[in-house]
Amino acid sequence: MSSTESAFGRLFQQLIELDVIKIDTEPLDARIERRLKQFWENTSCPRCGHHSIVTWETTDRIWCRDCDFKPTYTYGTPFHEKHLTCGEILLAFTLYADTLLSINQIAPLLDRAYKTVHTVIREVEAAVQRGFPAVWKHLNQIIDGPTQVDESGRVCSGYKGQEPPRNSRSRGGSSRSGRSRWRGRHGDQLTLVAACRDSLRVIRGHRGIDYQGDLEPVIQEAKDLSQPLGEVWTDGLQAYREMDRTHRTVIHKERYVSPDGVHINQAECLFSIIQPWLRKFRGLSKQGLEQAAHTFGIVRSLTLAGGSVETAVECLVIGSFRSST
Ligand SMILES: [Zn+2]
Repeated sequence: MSSTESAFGRLFQQLIELDVIKIDTEPLDARIERRLKQFWENTSCPRCGHHSIVTWETTDRIWCRDCDFKPTYTYGTPFHEKHLTCGEILLAFTLYADTLLSINQIAPLLDRAYKTVHTVIREVEAAVQRGFPAVWKHLNQIIDGPTQVDESGRVCSGYKGQEPPRNSRSRGGSSRSGRSRWRGRHGDQLTLVAACRDSLRVIRGHRGIDYQGDLEPVIQEAKDLSQPLGEVWTDGLQAYREMDRTHRTVIHKERYVSPDGVHINQAECLFSIIQPWLRKFRGLSKQGLEQAAHTFGIVRSLTLAGGSVETAVECLVIGSFRSST
């Protein structure tokens, strides 16, 4: 069994098996349903393009007065035909994005197959990513100060067919060397590039540390989300010399804060908290790792900006409709 055990959540999993945890997503189901219907009333019909959609509180169907199209209110969204309620879908995404639980642990909690939950989480994740910029813009907060940019070493999301390090004390070995030895082939590796400004966290997986291809796009994304971009603070990495922006550096070999107060602590802190979260995935592909890193930055930004479940619903609903049109 040891090969399928992960670092966190074993006791929690037992509680699920003992049927201790009851899930009641009805209030959240109703909230999401209302928001989706509200969105339908303000959008054009996917069939005829007219602004003629009518909804009712008492039925799942929405209706286009022009072309008589009568789909359910989840039509064209990640909530459609998923064998999970809207609230359960948001719950699955929240447990995935905001805890160290893996999909292997979330699926039994919702009493659904791994594949069902995995598919829905990936679709919701993509919708949240599409919806985030619009929601972020309307959070009405002042994003101020310098933008700290940093790049990690090569990271992966743990090991495929992961076997946790054995407790070597029981085998008489030195506990130090035994603890950190993981087995199995690791997932694809990428460099993480982060740009942090105030409560905003942009984090992306990239192939390397080339300025134009890897670092600049992340700085640009931070700029798009927090116009105008302030001063950029980085470490002394050679690649940043190509930067055509107001820019100051801290040389880490010498100190962590430059004499004039330049540092990249926020970015370093972000790397330290994303690593344990990424490890729960057990060997993601490049694409999976890119998508996960992006999500982490979004959820972290919403948390730091004081966002609520409501904000997450908003990202999801707006992103859902962006995909369907
Ligand atoms: Zn129509």
